[in-house]
Amino acid sequence: MEYDRIGWSVQEWCDWFDSAQFDMEYVYGGDDLGASYMPDRTLWKIWTPVAQKVSLNLYTTGSDQEAGAARLRQVPMIREACGVWSISLGGDWKGTYYTFSITWEGEEREVMDPYAKAAGVNGDRAMVVDLTETNPAGWEQDTHVVPEHPTDAVIWEVHVRDFSWDSYSGMKNKGQYLAFTEKGTHIPGHPKLPTGVEYLKQLGITHVQLMPCFDFYTVDETRGKEDLYNWGYDPQNYNVPEGSYSTDPYHGEVRIREMKKMIQALHQAGIGVIMDVVYNHTYQSDESAFQKAVPYYYYRTWSDGSWANGSGCGNEIATERPMVSHFIRQSVRYWAEEYHIDGFRFDIMGLIDVETMNRIREDLDQLPQGKKILMYGEPWAAETPQMRRSAVPADKTHVRLLNSRIAIFNDETRDCIKGSVFDMHSTGFISGAWYQENAVRSSLQGWAGPYATVKLPTQTVSYVSAHDNFTLWDKLVYAKGLAPKGFDVPKLSCLAANKLAAVIVLMAQGIPFMQAGEEFGRTKKGDGNSYRSSSQINCLDWRRTMEFRELLAYYQGLIQIRKRFAPFRCAGGDSIRRMVFSKGGPQVVAFTLPGIRGDSWRMVAVVLNASDQTTSVELSAWEDTPLPSGWSVKADAEKAGTDTLWRVEGNCIFIQPRSALILVDETE
Ligand code: CA
Repeated sequence: MEYDRIGWSVQEWCDWFDSAQFDMEYVYGGDDLGASYMPDRTLWKIWTPVAQKVSLNLYTTGSDQEAGAARLRQVPMIREACGVWSISLGGDWKGTYYTFSITWEGEEREVMDPYAKAAGVNGDRAMVVDLTETNPAGWEQDTHVVPEHPTDAVIWEVHVRDFSWDSYSGMKNKGQYLAFTEKGTHIPGHPKLPTGVEYLKQLGITHVQLMPCFDFYTVDETRGKEDLYNWGYDPQNYNVPEGSYSTDPYHGEVRIREMKKMIQALHQAGIGVIMDVVYNHTYQSDESAFQKAVPYYYYRTWSDGSWANGSGCGNEIATERPMVSHFIRQSVRYWAEEYHIDGFRFDIMGLIDVETMNRIREDLDQLPQGKKILMYGEPWAAETPQMRRSAVPADKTHVRLLNSRIAIFNDETRDCIKGSVFDMHSTGFISGAWYQENAVRSSLQGWAGPYATVKLPTQTVSYVSAHDNFTLWDKLVYAKGLAPKGFDVPKLSCLAANKLAAVIVLMAQGIPFMQAGEEFGRTKKGDGNSYRSSSQINCLDWRRTMEFRELLAYYQGLIQIRKRFAPFRCAGGDSIRRMVFSKGGPQVVAFTLPGIRGDSWRMVAVVLNASDQTTSVELSAWEDTPLPSGWSVKADAEKAGTDTLWRVEGNCIFIQPRSALILVDETE
């Protein structure tokens, strides 16, 4: 049809977009939208069935402020089937910047290519790129770093800038992708105190989850040397790396190459890379590339035409519309294939429809090693999503409809361990709260609360801290009334609580996850929402690896214990059934878990005492795996690791106040 129906309401447009006829005529299944580069010609395509006219604009630079800025040409594009507009130009267009001009309802607007794979400064213009030239040396040999089972992963969440910004980081490329490529870094003057990737190798985590490093809006890339900071949950260009983390945001190929170098370096250290993807909203609404390309198609709206806002950030993306779903699926696949990304963390997954999530899983499963690429997300939203087409959201209540290799963040675990994130003074099991024993037992079994139907450990991410809300340390300092002094001092009561939390998360069934620096008492000085606070508040203070070395060593030891004993990492749910909990007093939880054939440990017992009394617990076990006559202690109030600290006889276990014990039966 011809789009001359000027004056339609938003609701009329949306009804048309959700009609079977629109799907039939206009859904385009090709994977060639955007600019396809060939040495002797480039093909541009954009999907915009509602446009009356489309032209391609070619530029020498990514912005008008750069030297030599000029518009080279404006070329009309040709309308093809499915509402795709295309143009092919002979010649070598590598490094040329471009936009589209789209006329809709009689008005022409210049649009960034939503499918762009490279962009100029601040992501305002796309760039034609020869991706093969962006590969660092040895990239062909680089492969995914993926766990055998999702439950084998230990995930460490970090922001690119936070990783190296600190003046004690020992890294040269402060705040940039390239910091991850620096080898053997340490705190200046302390060669035995590693920082950077060297530190991560010693910590023992298996995966780094990078907070958004697709191109986001808020940090002005022309002011790279200044302290501009944002977490990056403000998407602008989904298939382009963020420019402010690169050494040169003006030349589109540089950020691509540097991000690949970062991933390659982490892979060489044996560490997988998980990308935080934010397909639930865009920073801009009226001015976004999506909205200018096909007005109202990419977003959910209320019946009065206003933006639905389930993200709390101004809009929500209509993932249930076929071309939006298609966009997201292609984008995920692109990052996995082109950048060798090993896992995806879906921000506000509760705004994405279940079918899109499951299809992403199927797409990834088809790639080499793709079945082992991790997928998990936040199973909630700020407001109820305004989904159409009878779609259902990938939230807690619909976990049962999701592929069992898509996990959800387990906020039940998080809150019962440390207290509600929404109340700074609320306490949890580790900070003295009563009646949390059942919730802690459920957390250890990887259960995600009454509304989520999680059946397998591969469906749940266990954690007590992430970028949102207080750091674990700050939360403990507040809960114990020690602010503000306690932020910077390793207070014993907070250390004890922190260790208890670490034992629960790392010995729980599920996929363990932590915010970078949780293991050395990371503080943001009580800042509970630092998304645009200074780099100084946000960055990792590497000196704390020295000041909190006992806590750090405890985490290292717990990670070693988890890696050593396969039943902690069980993917199939057998361990959940094999755990036997003891009857304990208030604020006490204890269980035994037998090994499986081939384990070097016949049985493990974990005892948690969050009370302020020394107490005793009588361990129990299944009849077919009797209790041993004594135990080797691998973790106590002070230390944790695979070495035996001391021995205990019998199965009545005495345990100090506010501490954990991990006991192992090493008999054959
Ligand atoms: Ca940007």
